Amino acid sequence: MTEAEQTQPCKPFAEITDKEYGIAFATGCEVSPTARGIRLSNKCPRCEGMMSYDKVEKFSKALRRGKVASEPRAESTGVVHVMCTCKRAHSGCPADDEGCGAYWTVEVSVE
Ligand SMILES: [Zn+2]
Ligand SMILES: [Zn+2]
Repeated sequence: MTEAEQTQPCKPFAEITDKEYGIAFATGCEVSPTARGIRLSNKCPRCEGMMSYDKVEKFSKALRRGKVASEPRAESTGVVHVMCTCKRAHSGCPADDEGCGAYWTVEVSVE
């Protein structure tokens, strides 16, 4: 992605979800361990801005290097509710918020 694409305005801010979002985000999503949890990195499925989402929670060591699936089971411990946190400008985005407002759910499972 070029510098110009990074700074281009994105879609207007809207708090919406779609089952396609989880599927798109899970595809090629990278899981990396952080000091206090995990980080999921991929393109936002709505606005296509690069983003990463930090989940501060205890995950097992295995999950911290796991893979991401789009259809969480309710009882799973690896369910992560993700919100877009891309750094591009979205018209109508609240000052204390970031991203395009899209949200979705994925499940992190052992690879
Ligand atoms: Zn965006
Ligand atoms: Zn977005």
